[in-house]
Order: sequence, then C-alpha cells, then structure tokens
Amino acid sequence: MSDLTTKTLVEIRAALAARDISAEEATRACLARIETTEPKIDALLSVQGEASLARARALDAEGPDARKPLWGVPVVVKDVLCATNTPTTCGSKILENFVPPYDATAVAKLKDAGAVIIGKANMDEFAMGSSTENSAFKVTRNPWDVSRVPGGSSGGSGATVAARQCFAALGTDTGGSIRLPAAFCGCVGLKPSYGRVSRFGMVAYGSSLDQIGPLTRSVEDAAQVLSVIAGHDPRDSTSVDAPVPGYAAALKGPDALKGVRIGLPREFWGAGVNPEVLASCRAAVDAAVSAGAEVVDISLPHTDYAIATYYIIAMAEASSNLARFDGVRYGLRDKDASELIDMYKRSRTRGFGDEVQRRIIIGTYVLSSGYYDAYYRKAAQVRRLIRRDFEQAYEKCDLICGPTCPTPAFPIGGVVDDPLTMYLMDIFTISLNLAGLPGLSLPVGLGKDTGLPVGLQMFGQYFKEDRLLAAAHGLEALLPAMPEPAGLG
Ligand code: GLN
Repeated sequence: MSDLTTKTLVEIRAALAARDISAEEATRACLARIETTEPKIDALLSVQGEASLARARALDAEGPDARKPLWGVPVVVKDVLCATNTPTTCGSKILENFVPPYDATAVAKLKDAGAVIIGKANMDEFAMGSSTENSAFKVTRNPWDVSRVPGGSSGGSGATVAARQCFAALGTDTGGSIRLPAAFCGCVGLKPSYGRVSRFGMVAYGSSLDQIGPLTRSVEDAAQVLSVIAGHDPRDSTSVDAPVPGYAAALKGPDALKGVRIGLPREFWGAGVNPEVLASCRAAVDAAVSAGAEVVDISLPHTDYAIATYYIIAMAEASSNLARFDGVRYGLRDKDASELIDMYKRSRTRGFGDEVQRRIIIGTYVLSSGYYDAYYRKAAQVRRLIRRDFEQAYEKCDLICGPTCPTPAFPIGGVVDDPLTMYLMDIFTISLNLAGLPGLSLPVGLGKDTGLPVGLQMFGQYFKEDRLLAAAHGLEALLPAMPEPAGLG
C-alpha cells in the first residue's frame, strides 16, 4: 500500500510488530501527510518532526516489543497535556512559551507503550468552547468541509485523526469536548468514566468533570488506546484504583448487541434536533435492533437544566483553576506594570482571551458570598438530580443512545459571537460529565442533505467501558464504512 496512513491503528500496529514497516516509515508517512493536509485544516499547534523521527529510529534499533502495545505508532495529543520538551500552550497566549518539565501520566503511558508523539493538537483556549474558534493561535477547519468548524474543544484532535495525520489522538472532555469533535469530524471519540484515566499533567478546567480519552478511526482503536491510558495513578487523587480490563478482548462484533436494552431518552429525540441528524441516528438504532437489541423509551427529565447547571459548575471550577496563571509562576508576564496587583491584572488581561475572561468573571460571581447559595449550591443540587435520572434510567435499560449534537458541523464564524447558542451545542453531552459516566460518539453516516458526518452518542454505565465499547463495536460492524473526508481535495 502506498499510503500507510490509510491503515487503522490496529492495522499499523500489526504491520509494525511484524516489521513489515519500520517505526521510522510510519512516522515519515504521518509527517508527509501533515505537510500536505495541515495548510488546509490547521489541526496542530506544534509538530515534533525531528524529535519524533529520532524516537522512531531509536525504537527501530531496539525492535518491536510485545509488552508495548503501541510500539512505533504515531499519535497526537491535545495541547492541554504536558509533555517534556514540548510546548504546552492550552491554546492560550498566557502559556505561549510554556515548556513543561514533565509528562502528563496519559502521555507517559503512551510513551511507555511505544507510541511516537508527533504533534500537539489545537484546541479552544483552556478547553473552553465547542468549535476550536477560541484558540488564541488559529482556527482549525473541518476536513469534511473546510468552511466549517471541527467541533471543540478538542477540534484539533478530531481533525488530525480524520485527516489521517496520525493513528489516534488524545482529547479531553469536560462537557463534550471529545464527543463533539468526534461527531463533527466523523471519528470515534470516547470519554471514559470519571476516575478511569489519571489527569495528572493535564491543565485543569473543571476538575469535577474533566476526563482524558481517545479520538480514533475505529472502535477497536479506541479500545486499544484506552487500555494503555487507563488505570490508577497516585498523583491524581481522583483516579480510581480498579483493574484495567483488556478492552479490545471485550469486542465481538454484532453479537454484543443481542438482548441489549437501548434506552432512547425522549428529551434527545425530538424538537430542536436537525432532521438529518435524527434520521442517521435513528437508522443506526434500527440496525442495532436488527441485530437483536431492544429499544426502551426512557426519560432524563432534568436535561433542560443541564446547560445551566454545567456552566455554573464548570465556570466556578475554572475561575479557581485559572487563578494560578498570575504572571508569576509560568507563562506570560506584563513587563510594564508598576506594582504587583497591576502586574496580575495586565498579565491576565493580555494573556486570556474573551471567552476565558467571561468564564472567570461568571465563575467568580457564582462563588461569591451572597450568590453562592443561589447559584453554585443550587447547581450542585441539580447535578445530583441529573445523576439520579441516569440511575433510574439504567433500571430499565443497559445503554442509552441519542444524537451527540443537535446539528452537524456549523460554518466557521456562524456561532462564535453568540456564546449562548454555542453553549447549546453541548445540550446532549454535558449531562454525562455531570454524572461522571462514560460515553462514546460513533460515526453513523453522512447527513443526506449536507453530506457531513453524524455522530450517535452512546452512554455507558460507570466503569463499564468494556460493555460500551462492545456495543459500539457491534454497531460499527453493521454500518457502512465511512468514506474519506471530502474537504481535503
Ligand atoms: N463546550 C463545553 C465548554 O465550553 C465543553 C468543553 C469541554 O468539554 N472541554 O465548556
């Protein structure tokens, strides 16, 4: 095959392990692909060309190792994850020149598994956004239609996978930021359960919501990456000390769907959802039924409150997490300030973009004495009710399905000046983060009018990623293969 990048992660891994190709060849193929596609999509904030070739050559010298499941596989990580000797900007001017002295645990695990990190993916500044238009450096474009957004905040991760620049990417998901770009870019995006993957070395946004997970071109690829990055880490006190199953071993095709009760929440399948999104998602559920699944009507009655609840909690946590960027410890410092408070103000005003500043202001407000009870405490109470909605739903079903987003990818510039409409893009994804559950966006085809990818969101049960992946793998096998993205020429 002339272009190695058309292989999936699982295929390239087998070719590498068999020494049919070298790690250097795999890395060169991705770097060449980056060179031709990057001018069209701007998915990456940095490319580690020389360093990744050196690493690939070192791996080749050692030879494949069966204990390293990603031996020689080129991957990209979102620029919110620290990696040694690699800029980690979070898409923000305030961290423009920050080079961390250590690896995030997820990055270290990828490296230990033999992966070659070839680049860092563009993102909405500090993971705040749904379109990757909030990056301080560039706007990533959707490989299916370069006039449209790739989704966000892990839009660079979605675009780089869809454009075949790498075999997998890591993203982070606080309120949908893995699943939404996966849906818009036609790839698989998995947000693991809260506590499944260590966040050590991930720049925090909403600490009670954030999770790291893979974006890939197949469900099996996602299972492979999750097996590598999951697991307990004493450096993240929220990571759970539970064994990591071999997720790929749980995959068995459409058989996994037999007898599975799929709950369809009324709130996700009606008014306000684009008809072509509904049609593609419905057809996928029908395919699951034809393989022996059963459909159950369910309700998640507090869905209407999810946006308000999420944005209060996420902004409150963000305002606290972002307090550390003060011009003293890392990143940008304004040199013209006359005294300390002035220096804080000027550095933060220059360093943070509009959306981040908006969130710091609102987050500080909802936590302030006098408003805490009305907003933050109330949101925490509603969060409990949202969690209970899922507990009750899972008494009647095993899996929950609905669209990942009410619309397909929207035009660049179309929504960015209207923050409330942008927040509405998250209506179907954020409840999952509030409840701490795992979720996966599966590409289920192209909308019949727009020709853009549609994602079906599958919600799993806490720490049952194996079952979620098995169901997604079963459904994937029943659907036609996704074609190549149309926007790359
Ligand atoms: N769009 C949501 C937000 O802006 C989710 C972002 C995310 O998951 N990181 O907060």
